[in-house]
Order: sequence, then structure tokens, then C-alpha cells
Amino acid sequence: MPSIGKLLLVCLALLGATGCAQNPVSGRQDFVMMSEAQEVSVGRSSDADIRKQYREYEAPALQDYVDGVGQELAKKSHRANLKYRFTVLDTPEVNAFALPGGYVYITRGILAYLNSEAELAAVLGHEIGHVTARHGVRQQSAAQVADIGLAVASIFVPQLNSGAGQNLTNILGGALLSGYGREHELEADRLGAEYLARTEYDPQAMIRVVGVLKNQELFDAEIARQEGREPRRYHGLFASHPDNDTRLQQVVGESGHLTVANPKAEYGKFLQHLDGMTFSESADQGVLRDNKFMHAELGLALSFPDGWRVLNLPDKLVAVGPQSEAAMQLTSEAQPPVTPASLARRLAGNSDSPVESLDINGLPAAIVTLPAAVAGVIYLDRKAYLIQGKAKSRAAFAANRKDMLETIRSFHTLSAAERKLAKPLVIKLITARPGDTYARLARHSPLGKQAENYLRLINGGYPDGEPKPGQYVKIVE
Ligand SMILES: [Zn+2]
Repeated sequence: MPSIGKLLLVCLALLGATGCAQNPVSGRQDFVMMSEAQEVSVGRSSDADIRKQYREYEAPALQDYVDGVGQELAKKSHRANLKYRFTVLDTPEVNAFALPGGYVYITRGILAYLNSEAELAAVLGHEIGHVTARHGVRQQSAAQVADIGLAVASIFVPQLNSGAGQNLTNILGGALLSGYGREHELEADRLGAEYLARTEYDPQAMIRVVGVLKNQELFDAEIARQEGREPRRYHGLFASHPDNDTRLQQVVGESGHLTVANPKAEYGKFLQHLDGMTFSESADQGVLRDNKFMHAELGLALSFPDGWRVLNLPDKLVAVGPQSEAAMQLTSEAQPPVTPASLARRLAGNSDSPVESLDINGLPAAIVTLPAAVAGVIYLDRKAYLIQGKAKSRAAFAANRKDMLETIRSFHTLSAAERKLAKPLVIKLITARPGDTYARLARHSPLGKQAENYLRLINGGYPDGEPKPGQYVKIVE
């Protein structure tokens, strides 16, 4: 069952079943409230779904460090009694989010852009703010049920449907990854700044971190425009830059009465924890470059159509067309003792749909076409790879059929050159020497044309900063 969908149902049921509860931050009576025990139980089941979409980043020292910083903030929050859990997720996406009941997630993708413990505390403090103000609980309303949008799972060939895609859509469709609206985000910023001050960090770190993320977002929007893809968005960022955002300045300023005499920043301690952290996708996840997916361990590559949004999930790849009217997915299973054509026929529910046996880039394969779907079966190294494409309507299928077939036919064994590209990138911490510039450090960077901009962004030096001699600098190798 999709957790967020379940959450909605639980909330809607509770609307009728229970009365008001007191908001821990405002002290006022809120009308959409569940008991704390219900909140924790909703958080727990949603956490299980998050873990189907994302893996925990395997770096115990970093996990402990992030948890330690988070626990200190949580202890000083309005709901210190809750049991909080802070988890670093193994994804290059730039995001952080919280579930009701004290489950807080931060991606290694966002960590790469931070440069001090104070900035980390600002991100965690903001998320704790969502938990203490019970935004995740208040947000769930009837209006949002309508906002769930495209159910990825439902558009796949039913026989091939594993059901897991539904969770993804509900999570992506909900407020979790997209934020809670301007007022809730400002409240989370205000609460986060207050928790920073209470734990001896400078509350202004909240504005700095919003600035860092805003720069990243503006840069990504520009690259996305050039690449013809959707920009990535971090939840809670709004149109204006934080430097010009008077509301944000104001809410953070409200924690000014708690100004800290000698605020902690902990640049070195924080940055040392990032040394060696994966920057791009990890090796066992495969990497995506310009919609080409390459997997070094599995030794395969394939290209999705331009303009499609490709999501690399732990157990599958999902690609969604520009207007969400079509989607594809790549999964694998152990190769059965039958031909690709027999497997394709079985997957199509043994219907009389036409099955074509063929050779795709030297690999035994079959393609089956259904009224509004197409599926390719390709055998490689004792695995059967299934690439399915389906559209919401026959018209949308007709419009996307050629692209889907091209994707299936692009499947091939990884070349030596691709194997090099498929190597995951990692962050390396160096000390800047006199004369070092971001342009010079970018010269042999695997980050490509935009390396100088990326180095500036991850080091807080965007758009025109330069490293100072003796300063720690993150580079990517
Ligand atoms: Zn937020």
C-alpha cells in the first residue's frame, strides 16, 4: 500500500473521528490532528516506503555524525519528547525532508553543497521545524488527494506491474518532496533558526544555507534549460533570492533575541566527514549521463529519450515522458530456461499480440507490442532485462512508440569508454595552495564543461569566489 495515500486516508478518517489537538509550537488547537502515537505510526509506515525508494548511505561515521547534530537540535526543539531519526540517503538528489513523528532525511546530494556543521544544523533544524509544527500532519487535506497525479504503476502493462511504482508517485505527488507552501516553509525556517540559536549556532546560517541551495537551484535551472530537461527543485525555495527576501530575513531575525555570543561553525569537522563521499550516483546504482544509463557492475547501457525524466530507483529505472502521458521502466530477473520470445509472450499474458524475435546489439531479444504498450526482453549474462513502455491512451502511445522502441534497441553491453564514464565520482578534500583558483582546480575535473561552476557551488564560492590559501576545498574525482 502506498504510504502517503494511506496517510491521507488515515487523516481524513481522523478528521471525522477525533477532535482537536494542541499544536506543540503555537499552543493553539489545530483541527487536522492525529494523536502523537498515530503520528509516529504513520511516520513508521511511511519510512518503510521511503526506504523502498531510497537506500541509506553506507557510511556509518557520517550517519552517526549527522544523527548527533540532529539529536542536539531535537533536544532543544518544541517536541523534545519525540524519538527523532536522522538518515542520510544514498542519492545525488539535492533534498531533505521530514515525516510526521520525527523521521528526518537528508540526501548526500545536499550534503555536498554544505560547508559547515552550522549549515547542516540549519537544514536539519528546518526539517525538525516541520515536525514540531506538525506540517506533515496538517498538510494532508482533501485538496491534496486530487493532487496525487499520475500513478506510474497503473500505466504499465498490468501483468508486469509490481505495484511498487505507486508508492513513488504518491511520494513525489505529495508535499514531502515539494515543500509545504510559503507560510509553512517560513515557519520551518523561523523554528530552525531558533533551534540553531538554542544549540549555539549562528541563526543566520539558515539564510546562508537557503542562499547556497538557491544558487544551486538557479544554476541547475540554467543547465536544465540547456539540456531540455525539468530543473530539480529543493523543497521550500521560493522565487526571490534569500539576499532579497525580506520575509525570510524577518523570520530568521525573530530568533535574533537569542543571538549567540560565540557561535559554533565547525567547518573542518564537517568537511572532513565529506572526504570520500560519493558525489554522483554510486557504483551499484549505475550512473545517468544525459539520459544514458550505464551500469559498470551489470555491464550494460541504454539511452532514454531526450526530455524524459529518468529516476534511478533501488530495484528499477523509471522514465516519465515530458507531459507524464507515457512512461517506461527497466527491471531485471534471473534468465529463465526459455527463449526471449517465450518470456515476452508470457509477460504479455499469452495474448495473441505480435512477438518479434531479434538480436539487439548482439544480444538475444524479443519485442512484444500490445494496444497501448510495448515491452522488450533482452538476455545478458544470465539475466533477463525487461524494458516496458506504456502510455495513458492509444494516441499518446502512438506518439511515443518510436521513442520507446529506440530505447529498447539502444540496450547494449558497456563499452570500455562507457565503463570509465560509469565510475562514480567522489568528493576529495584538499587544502588550497597560493595561486589555486576554481578554474585551475576544474582543469582536469571529471565534471566536464561546468566543472568550475560546480566547484564554486559546492564550496560556497558561487558565482565569483576564489579559494583562499590554507582553506579546505572540495574537489570531485
Ligand atoms: Zn521545508
